[in-house]
Amino acid sequence: MNLQKLKNDVLEIEDEIIRIRRQIHEYPELSYKEYNTAKLVSEVLKKLGIEVRTGVGLPTAVVGILKTSRPGKVVALRADMDALPVEEMTDLPFKSKVKGVMHACGHDAHVAMLLGAAMLLVKNIDMLAGEVRFIFQPAEEDGGLGGAKPMIEAGVMDGVDYVFGIHISSRYPAGVFATRKGAIMATPDAFKITVHGKGGHGSAPHETIDPIYISLLIANAIYGITARQIDPVQPFVISITSIHSGTKDNIIPDDAVMEGTIRSLDENVRKKALNYVKRIVESICSIYNAECKVEFMQDVYPITVNDPEVTEEVMKILSGISKVEETEPILGAEDFSRFLQKAKGTYFFLGTRNEEKGCVYPNHSSKFCVDESVLKLGALAHAALAIHFTNKK
Ligand SMILES: [Zn+2]
Ligand SMILES: [Zn+2]
Repeated sequence: MNLQKLKNDVLEIEDEIIRIRRQIHEYPELSYKEYNTAKLVSEVLKKLGIEVRTGVGLPTAVVGILKTSRPGKVVALRADMDALPVEEMTDLPFKSKVKGVMHACGHDAHVAMLLGAAMLLVKNIDMLAGEVRFIFQPAEEDGGLGGAKPMIEAGVMDGVDYVFGIHISSRYPAGVFATRKGAIMATPDAFKITVHGKGGHGSAPHETIDPIYISLLIANAIYGITARQIDPVQPFVISITSIHSGTKDNIIPDDAVMEGTIRSLDENVRKKALNYVKRIVESICSIYNAECKVEFMQDVYPITVNDPEVTEEVMKILSGISKVEETEPILGAEDFSRFLQKAKGTYFFLGTRNEEKGCVYPNHSSKFCVDESVLKLGALAHAALAIHFTNKK
């Protein structure tokens, strides 16, 4: 691979990458509704002569297929396309024109970087072997089912040997790549606990089964899971994030409902925690004769696990492009994890924090901003990984 040639070529298309990013930024679209973004993606790919498939598992999903005549591996590169229900509070000239919707997670940059990589790879097809699949995925922010699953069910990963994805992040300085071998992002288990007691007068709790009192006991016991059940060196979080019950000062209500999230990076830790939540609720409710129900969200995003050997190679290649940092795992979740269950690969971050440009706000903030000088690095990284891994024996 002639990395220097790619570095020169990316400078020629840098303005185009930024233009595409700004266009998407101005017209953000929520999960499952990425119609115009998908149209733009299809048009750019077609213009490059890349085979385009639309509606792959979801109406707004787009896949570009670039085949070469040389035998080689199949490499998939993924960009998510959806925006968030956030009102943009920046002063950018290209700020969101859609009320209450903003590309606050940088997925506009992801699309632009992957299209930039497509431009680079078409121009340098002589460096490539095998096949590259450009996956433009809807609905990463869905948090439940997500867009990766239906795309995989529609066959987008069939025959794929390696898969890579980049996330723009204000956690790291602009231009720095960050990743790690093994688990890099968590699985997000959501739970809902319903305590059904027996209401009555606030002055006579002994005649009731008080769901609020029982909920407090459950909440305390649940927070004890972190302190007393999970290995303290394991990354783990459990948070109760909503409690709803009651109407008035002198009424003990019938029901209380609590919701929360569990984040873990290890399947055994995860199973243990889910089991404890269930047991705590069952035991405490049985002491007080309350009827309780615990529900866990089904089929949540799995743990994102980077293949150690592939990631070692990825870090080497990225270090030829920019600075590479080994990062700690993050307890956020990503449905890129589903692609990594189908092929070896690496998920990595590209830093965008730049104090001088005011890009200091976290992802999902209404003031989130991308230092656009890093976009060319993302395009370059995608292209370099595609070339390296399609040529692998
Ligand atoms: Zn996000
Ligand atoms: Zn994101």
